Amino acid sequence: MFADKIINWYSEFGRQLPWRDTDNPYYIWLSEIILQQTRIEQGRSYYEHFVKQYPTVQDLANATEEQVLKSWQGLGYYSRARNLHAAARHIVYDLQGRFPDTYESILALKGVGRYTAAAIASFAFGLPYPVIDGNVYRLIARLYQVYTPIGTNKAYREFEQRLMHLIDKERPGQFNQALMDFGSMYCKPTGCDCTNCIFSQDCLAYRNGVVDMLPVRPSAVKVKERYFYYFDIRWSSPNPIIVVQQRGQGDIWQGLYELPLCETDRPVESSELMDWMRETVRNWMGEEPQRMELGPCLTHQLTHRTIKAQFVQVFFNDRPIKMPKKMQPIEWSEMKYLPISRLIDRYLSEL
Ligand code: SF4
Repeated sequence: MFADKIINWYSEFGRQLPWRDTDNPYYIWLSEIILQQTRIEQGRSYYEHFVKQYPTVQDLANATEEQVLKSWQGLGYYSRARNLHAAARHIVYDLQGRFPDTYESILALKGVGRYTAAAIASFAFGLPYPVIDGNVYRLIARLYQVYTPIGTNKAYREFEQRLMHLIDKERPGQFNQALMDFGSMYCKPTGCDCTNCIFSQDCLAYRNGVVDMLPVRPSAVKVKERYFYYFDIRWSSPNPIIVVQQRGQGDIWQGLYELPLCETDRPVESSELMDWMRETVRNWMGEEPQRMELGPCLTHQLTHRTIKAQFVQVFFNDRPIKMPKKMQPIEWSEMKYLPISRLIDRYLSEL
């Protein structure tokens, strides 16, 4: 039987991971949110840090959003951290600290999609819901030679139906872990050893010589460019001061701190760049800075966006005579306590 075969393989070769030693739904939920769009090696240290810093869902709910964002710093996709925090508060204040224990009620948590709900339901509560990630798509598409482009609702329903027939109803958690590990460790995107695979007799893609054509990917999403001009504004009073501002809602990096920014539709001509930046600073601060120096130009890749970020350092002798309301001067030494994007972190590390 398929389920027995893959679970036996998993018992011998499956990965040892810290969140697999527990059936505590809070820890499993933490690990699943951290691992969305994050490699296991990177996610592991964040998971251990979160479990240590917020050992219970109450601890997470009692933290401020800024503290949670700071703990998340470097992982990217910060909406995951905000949703995690909001859901922890919902569990503690609306559900009296009791973690939801049905697929539907887990799915209703902020930031939890079908994949994560199925993972928590099966790993923590032994409920028979199949998890479908990229590794599972690849394995099932090859085993059954499915040409439906993956990543669509239609594909999800189709693969879910197949898996509902295959899942081990007594051991759904192990079955799901086994499928994901087999897909990632054995049935790899390229170069898998099909001749020695435990499914070589059954796998339609292998029998028909189409392994490399599956799964079928959806057509690529066009990546857009955005142009960010960051102003690193400083003076001493008597300690070194830097100006920061918090990002608003409805865009990337919501709630994180960054340097004052101008975004443009297209790159500013290099011959005009310094004049334009000087003019911008004069409008903001009401006076000319003592000195300006062009800093690095960094490229930052997001899933559907490429950010081209030009930095400029702006030096004043004293606090300027005015400043837009959303900008805040802080002591340079406080910067390390603020949640910031990976792009700003890269810039500060390069200084
Ligand atoms: S035979 Fe090859 S393609 Fe088929 S499941 Fe095994 S490793 Fe994957």
